[in-house]
Amino acid sequence: MNITTSVMKKNIEDKLIHKNTKPTSMRILVYDFLSSQEAALSLSEIENHFEHADRTTIYRTLKTFEEKGIVHSIQENTTTRYKLCHDGCNENTHKDWHLHFYCKICKQTTCREDISFREPVQTDFRIDEIRLFAKGICESCLSLQ
Ligand SMILES: [Zn+2]
Ligand SMILES: [Zn+2]
Ligand SMILES: [Zn+2]
Repeated sequence: MNITTSVMKKNIEDKLIHKNTKPTSMRILVYDFLSSQEAALSLSEIENHFEHADRTTIYRTLKTFEEKGIVHSIQENTTTRYKLCHDGCNENTHKDWHLHFYCKICKQTTCREDISFREPVQTDFRIDEIRLFAKGICESCLSLQ
């Protein structure tokens, strides 16, 4: 392992520990892969990247990540996609109250954090989840038209 890889691995370990998650090697690999991705990925897309890992292990890793505030999931018709959260999310609450945008041409779903809800004001009802989802054509596909 070279120095860059070991520094990177240490960073990921720190992030996982910070979110109360034991940094197993599978978790480090999945985190590293997700952090290199611009778009949100489905279980099958993540699975395709890890040819030798078993589907259940990857699924469990994602579920743990979701519970611990490491990834948030985006429900798109029948597909669930996953994207890394920011430091503000933890095992008690997710704060990914931003727009998720699906491009009809490149079929990528991205987080658009410039369009978001503020922290909800005090209400008599309890909000557990907020979804903001849009479909359209992304900047790079638009520029090709
Ligand atoms: Zn989150
Ligand atoms: Zn596009
Ligand atoms: Zn998001």
